[in-house]
Amino acid sequence: MNTQVAPLPARARTCVDACGRLVKSLRVSVTDRCNLRCIYCLPHGSGDFTRASETLSFDDIVRVVRVACRLGIDNVRLTGGEPLVRRGIPELVARLKRETAVREVAMTTNGVLLERHVHALADAGLDRLTVSVDSLHADRFRAITCLGSVDDVWRGVHLAAEAGLRPLKINVLVLRGINDDEVDAWLELTRQHDLVVRLLELMPVGEGASTELAQRYVDLTQVRHRLTREYGLVPLDGVPGNGPARYWRVPGAPGVVGFITPMSDGYCDTCSRFRLTATGDLRPCLAFDTSVPLGDRIRAGDEAGIEAGFLRAAALKPRGHAWRDGEVTQIRMSRIGG
Ligand code: SAM
Repeated sequence: MNTQVAPLPARARTCVDACGRLVKSLRVSVTDRCNLRCIYCLPHGSGDFTRASETLSFDDIVRVVRVACRLGIDNVRLTGGEPLVRRGIPELVARLKRETAVREVAMTTNGVLLERHVHALADAGLDRLTVSVDSLHADRFRAITCLGSVDDVWRGVHLAAEAGLRPLKINVLVLRGINDDEVDAWLELTRQHDLVVRLLELMPVGEGASTELAQRYVDLTQVRHRLTREYGLVPLDGVPGNGPARYWRVPGAPGVVGFITPMSDGYCDTCSRFRLTATGDLRPCLAFDTSVPLGDRIRAGDEAGIEAGFLRAAALKPRGHAWRDGEVTQIRMSRIGG
C-alpha cells in the first residue's frame, strides 16, 4: 500500500458545469451492500451486489479524492449502501484527512454499527455525521428497515455526540401512512436537543419509483407551512454542510429542523455535488443514469485521466431533474450512493 503523500500541484482549474454551478462536493459510495432492507431502498436485498474485486480500494478512493481536491472539490461524504459494513472505514477517513487536501470528510450511515466504530471514526478525524432514522418507534423502525433495531442506532448517536461529532444530523424519510404522523415529535426533539433533524421527501429513484411507494410521497413544503403556522418556525442560515437542506428553528430551541424537498421545492440550481459509485462511475446527477466510467483510470493511477473525467462529468451535468414531469430514475439509491 502506498501511503506517501504526493506533492500537490497548484490548483489549476475548478470544476464548473455548463450552468455555471461550481462542483464542491463528492459523495463516495464505499460499497453498495447494506445491513438493512428499507422498504424504499433495498426491500428484497439484491442478488447482484458488486464483487469485492470490482469495488474501488482505499488506495483508489484516496487517489480520486486527491485529484478532485485539485479541482476545488474539497468536501467528501462517505456513503453507500451502508459505509460501516465495509471493513476499515476509519482507516479510510484517516487516510483522506492525511493524504489529500480535503477540507471535510463526512459520513451518512444507518447507524446500526455506529456504536462499534464511532470512537475510531472520531479519532480518524471524521468531521460530521448524518444518521438515517426513519422512526422514533422501535416496531415501526423495524417494519421500515426490516432488520434494524432503533435502540442500537440511538446508542451510536449518543456516543457520536459525546465524541464531539457535532452538529449531528438525523435524516428522516417521511412516508404517508407509515411515519408522517411523527413529524411533530421530531420537531419536539429539536426543542429538547442540539440535533439537526432533516425531513426528506421520497424521490422516484429505484424502489422509490414503484407505484406502491410513489403514493406514499409527502409534500414537505406543505408540512413546513403547517409547522410554521403552529410553532412559529424561523428560517436559518449558516447550518454547516453543503447539502440540499434548508433550515428552520422553533424559537428558543437548541436544535434545528431541515427540509429536503427535491419534489415540492427543488434545489437543482444550487447543486454542487458529484457521486462516485463503488465501482468508480462518476455521476454528475442523482436523477439521470448518466455517468463517466472512471474505474479503469483510477486503478491505473491515471490522474490526468481522472481529472479529465471530472471535467467531462461537469460538462454532462444536467440542469435539473425531470421527476415532476413523471420521469423516474431506475438505478437503486444503494448503488448511486445516497
Ligand atoms: N446506509 C446509509 C444510510 O442509511 O444513511 C447511506 C445510504 S442511504 C441510500 C442514504 C439516504 O438516502 C438515507 O437517508 C435514505 O433515507 C435516503 N434514501 C434512500 N432512498 C431514497 C428515496 N427513494 N428517496 C429519498 N431518499 C432516499
